[in-house]
Amino acid sequence: MSATRLAIIGAGAAGCFCAANIAENTREFDITIFESSDKPMHKLSLTGGGRCNITNTFDTVGALNHVYPRGANLLKKLFYNFDHNALQEWFLAHGVTLFAQDDGRVFPTSQNALQIVDTLYNALIAKGVTIKTNHRLSSLQTNAEGKFILSFDEKPPQTFDIVVVATGGTSPAFLDIFKKLGIETIEPVPSLFTFTIKDPDLNALMGATVDDASCSIAGTKFTSEGSVLVTHWGMSGPAILKLSSYAARYLKENKYTSNLIVNWLNTNEEDARNIVFSFQSRYPQKTVLSVRPDGITNRMWLYITNKCGIDGAKRWSEVSKKNLNRLVSILISDTYKIQGRGHYKEEFVTSGGISLNAVSSKSLESKAVKNLYFVGEVLDIDAVTGGFNLQSAWTTAYTAAMSIVNNQNKSN
Ligand SMILES: Cc1cc2nc3c(=O)[nH]c(=O)nc-3n(C[C@H](O)[C@H](O)[C@H](O)COP(=O)(O)OP(=O)(O)OC[C@H]3O[C@@H](n4cnc5c(N)ncnc54)[C@H](O)[C@@H]3O)c2cc1C
Repeated sequence: MSATRLAIIGAGAAGCFCAANIAENTREFDITIFESSDKPMHKLSLTGGGRCNITNTFDTVGALNHVYPRGANLLKKLFYNFDHNALQEWFLAHGVTLFAQDDGRVFPTSQNALQIVDTLYNALIAKGVTIKTNHRLSSLQTNAEGKFILSFDEKPPQTFDIVVVATGGTSPAFLDIFKKLGIETIEPVPSLFTFTIKDPDLNALMGATVDDASCSIAGTKFTSEGSVLVTHWGMSGPAILKLSSYAARYLKENKYTSNLIVNWLNTNEEDARNIVFSFQSRYPQKTVLSVRPDGITNRMWLYITNKCGIDGAKRWSEVSKKNLNRLVSILISDTYKIQGRGHYKEEFVTSGGISLNAVSSKSLESKAVKNLYFVGEVLDIDAVTGGFNLQSAWTTAYTAAMSIVNNQNKSN
């Protein structure tokens, strides 16, 4: 009997990991990975600035929805199949050691993303998986026998028994292929970006950071905490990136023109008031610039006090109550108009894709089309930075792989 023909669309992290786990667990499949570009795993080689932030220890993660704005519930279940510890064991068994930074980010000890790429590539080649580059899936149809007819641009169509789609963050046009099959899709929108704010006084502060700030989008519940970095085009830093991820869809719908509220002290009004008014009572003879809240640098303090119309050379005793109130207000709710979306080191992810309602939460097989699976970023799952996006790719890929292997074992 001829082997079952299995196609994986996309030679990224998820597609290659899925293929490797199928091929290492059964010989029943003739597996081909189709990749549109001329290089398998090219993006993986660039991850983590070339170091590959492969996963996270999850030690500092309170709840999964803090790091996965979309997909947390599904991943909670799937981590029982394959979590960051299982990933560590998998790579160790393939000769790769990993190490964790204090902030929870996990990297290969070699600090080289190419080691991860080579390890996956070698695992695929060792098990006879075929990789066809320059093959862009342009159409997918099913025939009367339930087999898949795949077309790759001008090339002759090919027939497969099982298809795994691992094409990453993708376009609405590509998602239409699946929409036509009755599969629910969600409009893809970018996530993980910086905010463009054209404010010459702010932009002049380029490089200034406040480590413990909080940010929110005015009129919404979207809020995040962490470090804020002022850039020459606006604002960046972990708190801003997280907020862009939480509010990705809202910001897109509002054409990236919402108001950003920064709480430079990450505290409430009462505490901020106590801090500011205590400066006046405790240091009446000192100048405003010489006494500032913890965590606010000299440059930042000069900017904030100027913004409140307070002359920093004046003594605290000379500052009017009105200006003290204004200072409290700016410290906890400094408002800026977002005027667009900027880049974060070239790293970005896509929110949206194949709806999680459209796939089985056990196997990631389409509910509408048998033997069609979706893994990785093509699913409506995305995360904040820290290795969480790749972990989602590994976990979903492994889940589908094991489901395919187990189904085959059952049918034998
Ligand atoms: C510069 C950068 C750095 C990043 N760094 C990190 C990091 O350190 N840690 C982390 O967790 N996340 C990181 N991310 C996010 C992470 O890389 C992705 O979430 C992850 O790669 C998703 O894996 P995937 O296999 O689903 O998709 P991808 O890696 O995007 O792979 C999809 C593959 O499918 C191919 N493809 C697309 N359409 C078709 C088609 N029609 N036919 C055939 N092939 C197709 C693509 O060419 C691609 O090779 C980074 C992202 C970027 C852009």
